Amino acid sequence: MFMKFIGAAEGVTGSCTWLYHPASDTQLLVDCGLYQGTDHEVWLNHQPFEFDPKKIKYLLLTHAHIDHCGLIGKLVREGFKGKVYCTNATARVAEEMLLDGAGFSDSEYTKEDVRRIQWSPIDYSASEIAEQRRDFKWGKIFTLAPGLTLSPWRSSHVLGACGFSINWNDQGDKSTYADRSIFFSGDIGCQSSQNCYLPMMKKNHAPPPYTDFLVMESTYGSRVREDQYKSSENRIRALEQVIIDTKERGGTLVIPTFAFHRTQEILTDLFTIGLRWRNSCKGDLQCYLESPLSNRLNKVYGEELPRLLSSTRPQNLDRQYLRDDLTETTGIHPKNIGNLFDNLSNGKVATSGKLKVTPSDGGDKGNTQPRKKKTVTPMEILKEFDVVVVSGGMCDQGTITRYLSIVENKPRNTLLLTGYQAAGSKGRQLLESETEDVACTIEDLSSYYSGHADQAILLDYLFELSGRKEQDNSCHVFINHGESESKNVLREAIQHRAAEKRPNDRIVSEVSIGLKKWFDLSNSTYIDNSPVLTEPTVNDLTRELLELKSMLATQSREMIAIRELLEHLTKEEA
Ligand SMILES: [Zn+2]
Ligand SMILES: [Zn+2]
Repeated sequence: MFMKFIGAAEGVTGSCTWLYHPASDTQLLVDCGLYQGTDHEVWLNHQPFEFDPKKIKYLLLTHAHIDHCGLIGKLVREGFKGKVYCTNATARVAEEMLLDGAGFSDSEYTKEDVRRIQWSPIDYSASEIAEQRRDFKWGKIFTLAPGLTLSPWRSSHVLGACGFSINWNDQGDKSTYADRSIFFSGDIGCQSSQNCYLPMMKKNHAPPPYTDFLVMESTYGSRVREDQYKSSENRIRALEQVIIDTKERGGTLVIPTFAFHRTQEILTDLFTIGLRWRNSCKGDLQCYLESPLSNRLNKVYGEELPRLLSSTRPQNLDRQYLRDDLTETTGIHPKNIGNLFDNLSNGKVATSGKLKVTPSDGGDKGNTQPRKKKTVTPMEILKEFDVVVVSGGMCDQGTITRYLSIVENKPRNTLLLTGYQAAGSKGRQLLESETEDVACTIEDLSSYYSGHADQAILLDYLFELSGRKEQDNSCHVFINHGESESKNVLREAIQHRAAEKRPNDRIVSEVSIGLKKWFDLSNSTYIDNSPVLTEPTVNDLTRELLELKSMLATQSREMIAIRELLEHLTKEEA
């Protein structure tokens, strides 16, 4: 088996790893994500794939964030006809995200390409609920090819997220036990067994106890989150305080947020606050949701969260995603949370205690027109509502762009950021600029909401085998999905913990940083030449031409420099 990191190797985004199992002649990918951030990263999205999409048999998709799924449309457009293995929730969310992305002017694929994706949900699909896949449980083995299998393991990162264990033998013989294994973590959530504090996702996630290789993300590999941010109660109180302060000033709180998962987390916290206010003297809380994509995703939350609570559910799917103590921490009955999201996605008001959330549109019905008959302007919305949740987590795109100038100008208003603000984004500028330019209050609660594990949780995730079978093999760890500093600091931290040799820890023999180079997993060594035999494709030729062009450009720059130097020397001599 051979592996090459394609994306998320030199940064955080563009997650994609290419695997080749020669014994069964199977090529597969783990994730196929969009590069985001700098101009160079965006440029990478428009370059030819390094592999031939027609030769890829499977794509294993860990979750539906765009940096993991965003290039699937392009992959299909360029000839990929294989199955996409992922959870049902991931398939449905990713499809909506990709359809939304097809609308951008620089998109490399169309909505038609997205509709041709062959989703293959590992837990169930609409027609198969509790039938063929009734026996699904995390860790279940699926056969991909002779001597090549896969098994999914849950992650607490976002709805539908999982990691994948790929097992193989080098003979490609079905009867032979797949005796080698590599695990891909995908993004690692922060809901640990010690502390489960984010609004919805359940804890308990870990890689399989046995694995020869383990690829793990390192987004926050160099950070340790302060305890104050790892608390449901602190987060809900902080949000409540921002609402109260803004209401007292007679203003409106505007929350621009990411459509997938962060919006649903914010809504869950708002539902909680509404319930807490039920028996208080505090007035009603009127909230407006104007985010067509997130309202389409609310449909998925409305179905996925309660479906698994029905009396006919397979026992082992019990609350597959939903945290078990939801009622204790939020006051919301697990059965009701689905109804709240479902109402919104059907264009209905969702009521929770004193909170009323009015959606701007009919969500999955594709009706993106304001639900009120007359056209409503942002000005009117701000007058009528206490809280407005809009799309555009970094304030550059989405419905926030309609509101921003109006919100900014009034000191009574508050703009609340709840997610990562990339360098150069409008959100980052707002956080860093002096308040003279902007009249409204800017608040930042992103430290409470981050869905990535910090260093301490990453280490526990990797090492802890508590209660599970004692391992009999050691593990080689590859680090990806992080800035250089995060990767280096995490590598040192892993080496340090491995050297402690704690009695119940996984044995880690080696820690490497994932390189964009072929690695022979069967012989544990990097190789120089590609093990995949391919005839040159149009993509290869295009890439070679591009390389040639840049070589010529470099050479001509050097020639000019030499000529200038010669002229300079000649002048000096003269
Ligand atoms: Zn993610
Ligand atoms: Zn990611």
